[in-house]
Amino acid sequence: MKVTEELLQKYARLIVRTGANVQPGQKVQLVASVEQHAFAAMVTEECYRAGASLVQIDWTSDAASRLHYLYADQETLSEVLPWQEEKMKQAVKDLPCRIFIESEDPDAMNGIDPEKLSAVMQARGRVMKPYRNAMEGKHQWVIAAHPSEKWARKCFPGAENPVELLWDAILKTVRVTEDNDPVQAWKEHTDFISEKAAWLNARGFSSLRYRSANGTDFSVELIPGAKWEGAGSVNPVNGVFYIPNMPTEEIFTSPIAGKCEGTLVAVKPLSWNSQLIEDFSIRFEGGRAVSCQARRGQELLEKMIRMDEGAARLGEVALVPRESPVNQCGFLFYETLFDENACCHVALGMGFKEVLPGGDDLTMAEAQEKGINDSIIHVDFMVGADDLSIDGILPDGTAVPVFRNGTWA
Ligand code: ZN
Repeated sequence: MKVTEELLQKYARLIVRTGANVQPGQKVQLVASVEQHAFAAMVTEECYRAGASLVQIDWTSDAASRLHYLYADQETLSEVLPWQEEKMKQAVKDLPCRIFIESEDPDAMNGIDPEKLSAVMQARGRVMKPYRNAMEGKHQWVIAAHPSEKWARKCFPGAENPVELLWDAILKTVRVTEDNDPVQAWKEHTDFISEKAAWLNARGFSSLRYRSANGTDFSVELIPGAKWEGAGSVNPVNGVFYIPNMPTEEIFTSPIAGKCEGTLVAVKPLSWNSQLIEDFSIRFEGGRAVSCQARRGQELLEKMIRMDEGAARLGEVALVPRESPVNQCGFLFYETLFDENACCHVALGMGFKEVLPGGDDLTMAEAQEKGINDSIIHVDFMVGADDLSIDGILPDGTAVPVFRNGTWA
């Protein structure tokens, strides 16, 4: 598929109308790389067409960010300046729609001292967190992607036209084609996901059992009353439905932290901290990862599982059928927005308190008491083998087929 002006226009419209679902009179904050200025302008125009009152753009640059970390000292970088804080206060007041155009080079921060990077992020995060919390769940937002030269080359090393190849893949995964109406295609897609989530919620499974010929033999207990979620969210301030991730294929929930047994075999490599872990499996006992085996990245995987107390426990289980367009693309995107939408996965680390009834209002400690995992990491890995079977176990012990051969039973 050749990437034409017309296709990009369709994509920009989809991000604004279906993703953020910008409403007349709303303000928009758009975050995009300077390399993507032309597409950012398209998105801006679509926002105004949708009736936005103002589109404010925050420009980013991988190259400049890297230079800041190379040359400026930790203390200077950690400081949040008064005007930056004022900007956050304004955002809390305005609750703008936020649109993020993701195009980051997966290797942008290679060679930067990881201690410095995380110290700066933690220090800035501490100041920004109260403002982020005040906006959380009260505004529409969406993350969508645009290839950058470096990201495309990482996905297609040695290819002559990597950017075109990545564009082609991205447009497929977000259901934009020459002859369709993507807004309509997304309506059908999100209706399907909502229907499946409603089915799971109505069943009220107490656990899931996974089996595959690759060695996966695993069961995990679910939190009674916790919801399966997927596709979109509703902004409670104005009742507007929006889709935070494009693409999105998953239906997910948080299991009981510390209640799982057995072995999960990964079916795709995992990129963590810009390094690859390949052909690996993790064995759980009493809800904790007790051992792991990787053909490549063994030490890294062990380090990951020991990051903190919660890093060895699960925070997410997600169901994605193997027909997912991300899976059909057949390559690693090095970007969670895509890679976690390829097939069924679980995540080690932080869980989602939002899946609990009234979860938005719970403190993390209260959510933990109800079974949600807490950790500084949240790392997804793919277990959706082509022959994967998943049974849902009802509270009375009856097994109900949920997945067969990697897709909905
Ligand atoms: Zn997920």
